[in-house]
Amino acid sequence: KKKGRPGGAAVVMGRYELGRLLGHGTFSKVYHARSLVSGEAVAVKVIDKEKALLAGAGMAGQIEREIAAMRLVGRHPNVVRLHEVMATRTKIYFVMDLVRGGELLARLVAVGGRLGEAPARRYFRQLVAAVDYCHSRGVYHRDLKPENLLVDDDDGGNLKAWFKVSDFGLSALRRPAGGGDGRLLHTTCGTPSYVAPEIIGNKGYDGATADVWSCGVILFLLLAGHLPFFHSNLMEMYNKITKSEFRFPDWFSLDARSLISRLLDPNPKTRITIDDIINHPWLNKGHHNPTPAT
Ligand code: ADP
Ligand code: MG
Repeated sequence: KKKGRPGGAAVVMGRYELGRLLGHGTFSKVYHARSLVSGEAVAVKVIDKEKALLAGAGMAGQIEREIAAMRLVGRHPNVVRLHEVMATRTKIYFVMDLVRGGELLARLVAVGGRLGEAPARRYFRQLVAAVDYCHSRGVYHRDLKPENLLVDDDDGGNLKAWFKVSDFGLSALRRPAGGGDGRLLHTTCGTPSYVAPEIIGNKGYDGATADVWSCGVILFLLLAGHLPFFHSNLMEMYNKITKSEFRFPDWFSLDARSLISRLLDPNPKTRITIDDIINHPWLNKGHHNPTPAT
């Protein structure tokens, strides 16, 4: 019955038996796994220490930050919870909630590339709830994109599933208040299409506004089926992002346009805040209270 690895023996890590590969990133592989004690199914992210460290001196600190961030944000229905961390000489293992439905991006492709406003709203409310929670815990994700939003349950494609934010691998923790621009972040990171203008400008940025921008790119993508800013030449793409130069497809409602224009405000100082997103009419259409994720 077992898939059978070469040699036939199952790979056991601590109390967990590793199963099939769920996905991978640059330095990591994520496996389906099962607790040998409770039978509980989990996901285990395996980071190859050597590969990660070869990539740069900053990686060790970044892995520490990923663990610290996940420990801070472990109590929200829309955020992947870290159960425990284990390490061997060569590898680090993150035992996490298993999210069964795959990446939101794949789901989007499966339904023909874009969502109607009602299902998009459902996802977006959950995204905003998760981001609001992370920020309240002092964690900026900095890599919000549909590959890192995992659909919680396979509901046969009717898009009612919950999803969870995952991959805190590029996250930053809020610095203590005071002292010049001591609260601003300077690291350029994230995925080009989702990156905020202030990150490209490298003037120091506030992690909160950068996450709000990425939410705007994600909402546009969900409704449009394509990215707001795209160019095969990276410099040209950055140029469009810096000016927030994009066009709405005709089918976007007026409320959706108003919200996205506020999310994709190129000026981080005037960009909409999470509190104002939560109160925006588009988000609350058909809902009687302004609390997301219900
Ligand atoms: P990286 O930091 O290398 O990008 P991620 O944490 O994003 O790694 O994981 C890589 C991929 O593995 C994800 O895009 C997703 O497909 C899958 N994955 C990650 N975490 C989980 C999880 N908790 N449950 C199910 N699949 C997961
Ligand atoms: Mg990832």
